[in-house]
Amino acid sequence: MGRRLQAAQWARYGLQELAAMCGIVGYVGARRADRILLSGLRKLEYRGYDSAGIATIDEDGLHLSREVGKLDNLENELCENQHQGTIGIGHTRWATHGRPSQMNAHPHRAGDEVAVIHNGIIENYVELREELAAAGHELLSETDTEVISHLIHREIQAGSDLAEATRVAIRRLRGSFAIVVLSAAEPRRLVVAKNATPVVLGLGDGENFIASDIPALLDYTRDVVFLEDGELAEITADRVTLRSFDGKEFERAPRRIAWDPVTAQRGGYKHFLLKEIHEQPQALIDTMRGRISQDTGTVVLPELDGLWPRLQGIKRLCVVACGTAWHAGLVGKFICERVSRLPTDVDYGSEFRYRDPILNGDTLMVVVSQSGETADTLAALEVARECGSPVLAICNVVDSSIARKADAVLYTHAGPEISVASTKAFTTQ
Ligand code: GLU
Repeated sequence: MGRRLQAAQWARYGLQELAAMCGIVGYVGARRADRILLSGLRKLEYRGYDSAGIATIDEDGLHLSREVGKLDNLENELCENQHQGTIGIGHTRWATHGRPSQMNAHPHRAGDEVAVIHNGIIENYVELREELAAAGHELLSETDTEVISHLIHREIQAGSDLAEATRVAIRRLRGSFAIVVLSAAEPRRLVVAKNATPVVLGLGDGENFIASDIPALLDYTRDVVFLEDGELAEITADRVTLRSFDGKEFERAPRRIAWDPVTAQRGGYKHFLLKEIHEQPQALIDTMRGRISQDTGTVVLPELDGLWPRLQGIKRLCVVACGTAWHAGLVGKFICERVSRLPTDVDYGSEFRYRDPILNGDTLMVVVSQSGETADTLAALEVARECGSPVLAICNVVDSSIARKADAVLYTHAGPEISVASTKAFTTQ
C-alpha cells in the first residue's frame, strides 16, 4: 500500500528516473550567483560527490572555480576568488570517467566563453574525442563530459547562438545527460537539455533556477517545471522557453511542490532504502550503458583491453569480496562457470589471506567492492599480485584504492548509495 502511494506520488510529479550521480544547479537573476549555486549544491550533498565547481559570468567574462573534495574546499576558494556575476552554473561530481581531480571536475570549458556541467554518461565519448582532437580541439580532462563543451563551442564558432549550438551538439551524443550551458557571448541566458537524467526548473520572480533535484530549489521557489527526455530549455531572468530536441517550442504549466525539504531529499520516499530500491532499474541501465553493442548483440568491455593477453591462459577464477559484494560474488560464480566453463571460487576477503591460497598466473582474481576501499579485499588483492595473478576489480567509486591497484577495473555506475543496506550497488555488481 505504502509503496503504491509512493509510486503514484512519483507519477504525479513526473519523476520516473531516479538514479543519478551528482548535482547540477543553475541560476540567472539579480542576486550574486555564487552564493545561490553553493547553497543549492549543499542541498544536493546527500547524493554524494567527489569534487565540485561553479562557473559564472560578469562584465569581465567567464570565471571558473573547481575543487576536489568537500564543498567547504570550494567555498574557501570562492572566498579567495570572489565571483560577482548574477548568472552561473554549479556541479557536484560523482566521477564515472576519469579520476576525481581538479582538471576533471565540472564545469568544463571550451574556448574562453563556453562552460558546461553534465550529469550522466556519454557512451560515444571516445569516438567524439578522437573526432575533436583530429579537428584540432585540445581536450584537457579525462572525462566523457568535455566533448560536450567542445561540440557546442564548435557550433558557436560556426555562427549558431547558444541554444541552437546546444541543440545541434546534443544530437551527436549517445547516453544519458542533463547538461547546463553558459556562454560569455550571451551573458543573460542558460541553456539546459535532458536525456535520461533528471532536471527540474524553478520559477522565481525576476530570477530562475535549474537543479537536478527539488531540494536545491525549495529555499527560493516551490513553482517548478520538470523537463522530460528529449527536451531543452532556454532560461533568462524572466523567461523560460521550452523546446523539443527538434526545435519545436511548447508550453508546460508549472507544478507547485508541497514537500518539506527533508522529504524532498528522499524524493518523496519514506527513507533512502526505499528510494534506492526503486533506483535499481536506472542504475542497471547506467551500468550496462555503452557495454552492449546494439548492432552485434555482443558485450564490449574496452576496460579489459590491457589485460587481455594475460587472460588467454587463465584456468580458474577466484572472486574475493566482503559483505554484500561477497553475495554478488556467489551469484557471479554461477554466471562465470556457466559462461566461461572455468572453475570459480568465491572467498571472503577477511579470511582469504590467512588460508595460504593457491594462486598463480593461471588464476584471474576478481575483487568486488562498492567503495573500492574495503581493507580486507584490498589485502587479498595484494596477495594476488605477489603470487602473479592478474586482478580485475569491480567497483563503484572511480579511482578508489582497489581501482588503482587492480590490473583492470569494471566500474558499476550505481551512483552513491546512502542507505546502509545495499540495493543498487549489489544489483549492478
Ligand atoms: N560522466 C561525468 C564525469 O565523469 C559526469 C559524472 C556525474 O554525473 O557526476 O565527469
